[in-house]
Amino acid sequence: MLQQVNGHSSGTDAEGKASLKGDLQQFLDGEAPLHQLDDLTKVNPVTLETVLRCLQARYTEDIFYTNAGCTLVALNPFKPIPQLYAPELMQEYHAAPQPQKLKPHIFTVGEQTYRNVKSLIKPINQSIVVSGESGAGKTWTSRCLMKFYAVVASSSASCENHKMAERIEQRILNSNPVMEAFGNACTLRNNNSSRFGKFIQLQLNRAQQMTGAAVQTYLLEKTRVACQASNERNFHIFYQICKGATKDERLQWYLPEGAAFSWLPNPENNLEEDCFELTREAMLHLGIDTPTQNNIFKDFKPHRTISKELAITVLAGLLHLGNVHFTDSEDEAQPCQLMDGTKVSVRTSASLLHLQEDLLLETMQIRTIKAGKQQQVFRKPCSRAECDTRRDCLAKLIYARLFNWLVSVINSSICADSSSWTAFIGLLDVYGFESFPDNSLEQLCINYANEKLQQHFVAHYLKAQQEEYAVEGLEWSFVNYQDNQTCLDLLEGSPISICSLINEECRLNRPSSAAQLQSRIESALAGKPCLGHNKLSREPSFVVVHFAGPVRYHTEGLVEKNKDPVPPELTGLLQQSQDPLLMMLFPDNPEEKTQEELSGQSRVPALTVVSKFKASLEQLLQVLHSTTPHYIRCIKPNSQSKPQTFLQKEVLSQLEACGLVETIHISAAGFPIRVSHQNFVERYKLLRRLRPRTSSGLQGLCPARGPSEQPLCAKDATLQPPLQDILHALPALIQTATTP
Ligand code: ATP
Ligand code: MG
Repeated sequence: MLQQVNGHSSGTDAEGKASLKGDLQQFLDGEAPLHQLDDLTKVNPVTLETVLRCLQARYTEDIFYTNAGCTLVALNPFKPIPQLYAPELMQEYHAAPQPQKLKPHIFTVGEQTYRNVKSLIKPINQSIVVSGESGAGKTWTSRCLMKFYAVVASSSASCENHKMAERIEQRILNSNPVMEAFGNACTLRNNNSSRFGKFIQLQLNRAQQMTGAAVQTYLLEKTRVACQASNERNFHIFYQICKGATKDERLQWYLPEGAAFSWLPNPENNLEEDCFELTREAMLHLGIDTPTQNNIFKDFKPHRTISKELAITVLAGLLHLGNVHFTDSEDEAQPCQLMDGTKVSVRTSASLLHLQEDLLLETMQIRTIKAGKQQQVFRKPCSRAECDTRRDCLAKLIYARLFNWLVSVINSSICADSSSWTAFIGLLDVYGFESFPDNSLEQLCINYANEKLQQHFVAHYLKAQQEEYAVEGLEWSFVNYQDNQTCLDLLEGSPISICSLINEECRLNRPSSAAQLQSRIESALAGKPCLGHNKLSREPSFVVVHFAGPVRYHTEGLVEKNKDPVPPELTGLLQQSQDPLLMMLFPDNPEEKTQEELSGQSRVPALTVVSKFKASLEQLLQVLHSTTPHYIRCIKPNSQSKPQTFLQKEVLSQLEACGLVETIHISAAGFPIRVSHQNFVERYKLLRRLRPRTSSGLQGLCPARGPSEQPLCAKDATLQPPLQDILHALPALIQTATTP
């Protein structure tokens, strides 16, 4: 009952009265209109269906943000709503004495984190984990939050620092279009889908000014550079160049108007091409000057120094590489020949990448094998499929390193000296849980990451609640919440887990079939509760019962993907490039060689995709553990990206996938209402006369304590006046509430 009386709260007195009146009306009538429930912990009962109905009711009223206990749910409106992200609104949340009393918004979360960084004696790092499926709005949300911080942080800068602050903030914001140009692509589910995970730390000094930022990326989908699913596209940057290059640049880069490239499907899709200017400008602001940019896109100036003129081009070179095609060889002893008309592509690509044409071709056509004690070199012509694989591998290798280089350039442009900041706010924009008809290593990594994040969420939230109740001196026995440790044990536990088995297959470097991997997993992990039944599929696979639902992973090609093998001849070839950027990306000096390259020499990578991903994930979680986390769950109301369309079935599956109802249950199992002592006294002081006064004045109503912002919990027996008292007080309350 009290829960409902306390349901809404607002900033001003007038609003407070109106809200109280509404609360009482609601109390007398029963339920409040669903769309008015700002927090899903208040739907009654909390089920998937009621939560869904509440979100739908709010969506219909154009209300896109709803609290769910400690999480904010963000529905994607799929239409521009400028007023919802206006700088004035940012300032309103920033200036509000208690922003959590305003309507739920990402700015509430933004402002909370911003205040937390300052308000504590020793600043505590904050993080915001933004999750959701592809197209749900994670990147949009992160971008809006970055803008929010840029606006509020520059407003707190002193006059002389203002210009400086604006410059660094602009740089940080400029990292978005650059990273999106190179790392995002149009997919079936999102026209601007991030093909990498991103964690950005916004660095703040004691005066809450933003002094810099650092970006960490995860698992770029590099296969996209050479292979795009039907109706999907390559990374935006390629289309931007083809559409946006000037006449001279076209000549320079061999990109005649209307040229067709195998790796540029669906060029008629008019989405991002005219953004080239924007990307260039953003790069300029990041300190990547025009000659360097030109070098990225292609402008070889070998006589200039490397620091000034990082000669690159890689992108145009890659496009031409994609047009190199082979024919089947009739004689196995002979290398596959080039398909008619593609010799020119080899020449152009070699010229743009500053490689020797014949060497480039030969590396794709012929495999060299070292064998015997003398390490004798054997040359074996590759099949047509192998030639294609080597060509694609070359492109993936170059693109992945180019992307990493770009991230490092961005970091060196925006990262502040460690002495100039005291705390950071981290924004995590990661791929959400995925389950397709055909799932492979990529989905395994993504879902593994989501399991880790879910565990972090549960652990943190339960812990935070318990600690808070202990501080409040409340009696509390916790509901035994089933966390996802059993699933994580299956995925990463020791001594044997799915990850360890897949890694072992790579380490043994033996030919193993997909069926063998399946049976190894089934026998070694038999009886593990999260290993699902695998009866239905004819193809070799295994099923993992994730917290968000069961997923079937196909084992075909899994081990090979995990090895991500790079034939040493390919790295060797790139080490011979005369292009200054490629020289930097593929150093010939063994001391500069990466572990990947060194291990590649034995053809068995020391670090598999899974082990590298696991290591970076552990690092990320360590960082998250050291912060106060906040959570935003983005939900996509329909898969056609249409405004005003709420498809229940689609939303339902996302609610299930993100475990939202469980989250609400955890919140509801705790005390759902947290009212500060001061506000409680303010609101219910007229009930005082109903109870005998005690020595400390209000003790009959509230536990004795000084006014503070610490929340009090409505379940505390000492807070609850007897029902009779409340009913007697109602007429008076109504009168107070209705008095203007
Ligand atoms: P992915 O995992 O594929 O990267 P994502 O969750 O990052 O997906 P976004 O790219 O952020 O998804 O959003 C998809 C599209 O939805 C955006 O390009 C934009 O058109 C629209 N969108 C998202 N959030 C909002 C919003 N708050 N207001 C208006 N449009 C939005
Ligand atoms: Mg995204």
